[in-house]
Amino acid sequence: MDWQASSGQGAKIDVLIAGAGYVGLAAAVAMRQARPALSVAIVDAAPAGVWQKDGRCSAIAAAACRMLDRLGAWAEIAPDAQAITEMIVTDSRTGDPVRPVFLTFGGEIAPGEPFAHMVANRALNGALRHRAGELGIDIIEGVAVAAFEAGPQHVSVHLADGVTVDARLLVAADGVRSRLRDMAGIKTVHWDYGQSGIVCTVAHERPHGGRAEEHFLPAGPFAILPLKPDEKGGNRSSIVWTERTADADRLVDGDEMVFEAELERRFGLKLGEIRVEDRPRAWPLGLTLARDFVKPRFALAGDAAHGIHPIAGQGLNMGFRDVAALAEVVVEADRLGRDIGALDVLQDYERWRRFDTVQMGITTDVLNRMFSNDFGPLRAVRDIGLGLVERMPRLKDFFIRQASGLGEATPRLLKGEPI
Ligand SMILES: Cc1cc2nc3c(=O)[nH]c(=O)nc-3n(C[C@H](O)[C@H](O)[C@H](O)COP(=O)(O)OP(=O)(O)OC[C@H]3O[C@@H](n4cnc5c(N)ncnc54)[C@H](O)[C@@H]3O)c2cc1C
Repeated sequence: MDWQASSGQGAKIDVLIAGAGYVGLAAAVAMRQARPALSVAIVDAAPAGVWQKDGRCSAIAAAACRMLDRLGAWAEIAPDAQAITEMIVTDSRTGDPVRPVFLTFGGEIAPGEPFAHMVANRALNGALRHRAGELGIDIIEGVAVAAFEAGPQHVSVHLADGVTVDARLLVAADGVRSRLRDMAGIKTVHWDYGQSGIVCTVAHERPHGGRAEEHFLPAGPFAILPLKPDEKGGNRSSIVWTERTADADRLVDGDEMVFEAELERRFGLKLGEIRVEDRPRAWPLGLTLARDFVKPRFALAGDAAHGIHPIAGQGLNMGFRDVAALAEVVVEADRLGRDIGALDVLQDYERWRRFDTVQMGITTDVLNRMFSNDFGPLRAVRDIGLGLVERMPRLKDFFIRQASGLGEATPRLLKGEPI
């Protein structure tokens, strides 16, 4: 569809997606690729090019890689993606010189297929935008959805620039503070953790060997995630470091040398000397679960439906699971001549995603509460728990499959199959 030509008052479209983050982009590509007859467009509130400033990296589970491959985006991402070949978990205090390893995960979920990769958010977003362009999906930037009302045939979406678009379905992928969720009158369960996630990239002397580390420290988890070497072959890792919010703000806004010294205390010396490569940023952390995922002609996806603690690196992966389930439901309904915005169609999507979402929200919440403290008896109990998992190969296999996103009732795209 030529959006520009038809974006006067009352432009018509099948699916309008609010939010050109990873979830909105992937949802657009998934629907349009499987069903070229569906007209799909995206509007994003952020000005053009802002996405290129995101210096963060994400851990992408195997199932999400399969989906990105099926969507034709993985080939562009792969050259810069770093396979995670092993993961270790420790439970220690900040200054402990030695951190005993309580749990190790390793291996591949299929020959040649690691259970996760680290990818640059910029590369991910860029590859999905490229695919959206190839599929003729318009991305309108710098325009927010201001209001909408659902009717029997379509939802009228009013954009901040005065344009109104009539869509059969409106998908809100507008992030954890979703305005569209509020406009739809959907309530959330929400609490703040009083913690922030400090994110930065670190250069180090010795190679990481594809190993990811998660150290449970008293203020919260400290993760070292392996990155592909830079263009000069320099070794790099991504840090996701949870601290109490006031401490995190002090650290990122304060003196660089103090930051590096504190980082080094947590990072340890096994990878040699370290150097912070970019400006660290702190992201406030909380749990947000939408009470409903759908309304007539309206569906939430990604962080707009669920914002969770990054302790297990699953936020975006859950968003990709929404994408795969929503696209499958919408495409199948359209093939059968059903109304893609009808509530009973959208409720199939909600039923599919609700259990996994609540389960992951609770799991990350409990893990964070259990591990973000220095209470002696609790330390003893959790370390026994970790030790037990380590000695039970079948339980470990189960966790690896869950972490790879290949649990039960997996949508087709996440298995690498077409819709
Ligand atoms: C510290 C940290 C580390 C993380 N690490 C990982 C990890 O390793 N692995 C992982 O899976 N997840 C991770 N996550 C979670 C992951 O970053 C999020 O789940 C993911 O970014 C959500 O994507 P999204 O597309 O749903 O939303 P967003 O990326 O927030 O995109 C929302 C988009 O909507 C647009 N928008 C907002 N309002 C409007 C409006 N009114 N109209 C139109 N557009 C609008 C915004 O401009 C934006 O482009 C991490 C999160 C944090 C905080």
